[in-house]
Amino acid sequence: MSPATHYDIVVIGSGPAGQKAAIQGAKAGKRVAVIEREPGIGGGCVYRGTIPSKTLRESALQLERTKQSSTTLDVCVPPNIPVAALMRRVDDVVKAHGLYMENQLRRNGISFFHGRAKFCSATLIEMLSIDGVKQLITADTIVIATGSRPRAPVGIPIDHENILDSDSILSMIYLPRSLTVLGGGVVASEYASIFAALGVHVTLVDRADRPLQFLDEELVRMFVQSFEQGGGRYCAGQAVKDVRWDGISQVVTTLLDGQMIRSDKMLVAVGRQPNLEDLNLSATGLTLTEKGTLAVNEHCQTAIPHIYGVGDLLGPPGLASSAMEQGRRAVCHALGLPEGRSSDIPIGIYTIPEMASIGLDEAAGRARYREVMVGRARFDEIARGQISGICNGLLKLVADPTGEYLLGVQIVGEGATELIHVGQIALQHAGTIDSFVENIFNFPTLAEGYRIAALDILGQRQKRLASTAA
Ligand SMILES: Cc1cc2nc3c(=O)[nH]c(=O)nc-3n(C[C@H](O)[C@H](O)[C@H](O)COP(=O)(O)OP(=O)(O)OC[C@H]3O[C@@H](n4cnc5c(N)ncnc54)[C@H](O)[C@@H]3O)c2cc1C
Repeated sequence: MSPATHYDIVVIGSGPAGQKAAIQGAKAGKRVAVIEREPGIGGGCVYRGTIPSKTLRESALQLERTKQSSTTLDVCVPPNIPVAALMRRVDDVVKAHGLYMENQLRRNGISFFHGRAKFCSATLIEMLSIDGVKQLITADTIVIATGSRPRAPVGIPIDHENILDSDSILSMIYLPRSLTVLGGGVVASEYASIFAALGVHVTLVDRADRPLQFLDEELVRMFVQSFEQGGGRYCAGQAVKDVRWDGISQVVTTLLDGQMIRSDKMLVAVGRQPNLEDLNLSATGLTLTEKGTLAVNEHCQTAIPHIYGVGDLLGPPGLASSAMEQGRRAVCHALGLPEGRSSDIPIGIYTIPEMASIGLDEAAGRARYREVMVGRARFDEIARGQISGICNGLLKLVADPTGEYLLGVQIVGEGATELIHVGQIALQHAGTIDSFVENIFNFPTLAEGYRIAALDILGQRQKRLASTAA
């Protein structure tokens, strides 16, 4: 084996976390290498997660809009629609993204190795290429960004043909007539609502009384309502006793209460598991947490100061957006560069309808301040909502007990994941509720909802003043 090549920074994994770590290092003038076991750059986000799922979602929305806007034609989704037809654009998007990433790495002088990395010691990495050649690499800073994979629960026979996980769901050739989705998290809820919008009979099964437990209750209630109005079913508080393929055409799911659900296909989406086992971390002296994640401090630094962990392998929130920021921050810290002020992480959920959140929700606000003021704007009261047929939506502003300062924003409805950023900036700059009234919003926009919700809070403030004065 040839002697080890030395770099200032080595990044293992080329997903959103790894990319941003590598780019930050190169921008600071450092010699950087990225090791990736897949042929393409971009990680699970590009090939199996965000980009393919959002492409399918876009197709589902386009079909929904066609159906809604057609008053004269009776448009319906034909049965047996090839999934590939709904995913036509994904190859182009993935190719364009891969090419962009490749060029970006090249432009910034970053070395790219296609191979599987593992540790020989805390400073020495062995990279095994696909043709079996081993190469040794040392680095001053090592960033582990190996991401995660779907968790496979014991006893559920995932065969990737009838019983699928989020990596294999889009390999289905035809849209099934019915789909059982196990799980109540983001991936489960997103796919459940996307397939329901495509006309598939979807049953979402979870142990909890509502999906997306970490989100504002009112938002989730509206989402479940819309999912069920669209033909989906949420099976709450249910544990699975047994799942089997009947050998002919159906997946048979037996719940603990005895209910039996038959469906053409099943999607198992019950969480993610970090990709850390193959790295031979014991050679570094690092150990994993009970949950199998890597423990890091607020700078994403592990117990070994020159080794950092970023992205999905740290556990929640498991979002590409936060993975990117962790990658950037980790390298800034390693190089002694300012990381910048850390801000609240926005949550964007691409269910149909979308949901988004930033800062404190109503329950968290009450837990901290005992009392909060909440302003609401319903999309059907906003001109743009009416014009665009986006009436099923709600924007909530959560303010401190006096109704002066913004604590958080929660939105359900199409456009939520974009709209949330207005609230994010306001929160970061300690925005007042009055500032939403004093600023002029374009008309007609959904963003006008901020003004309407703020006026709602102003009304509550006035009522309170009047009752105190009386
Ligand atoms: C269905 C689905 C939809 C999603 N939608 C969204 C969304 O809308 N918005 C959002 O923000 N997030 C979304 N996510 C989450 C997002 O995809 C992840 O948070 C993000 O990809 C994590 O980035 P990462 O860099 O940590 O890991 P990954 O993107 O998983 O990248 C890790 C990389 O490391 C490589 N690797 C692993 N082990 C080794 C090794 N030993 N040697 C070399 N390379 C290795 C892997 O091949 C992989 O390319 C979604 C996820 C799923 C599953």
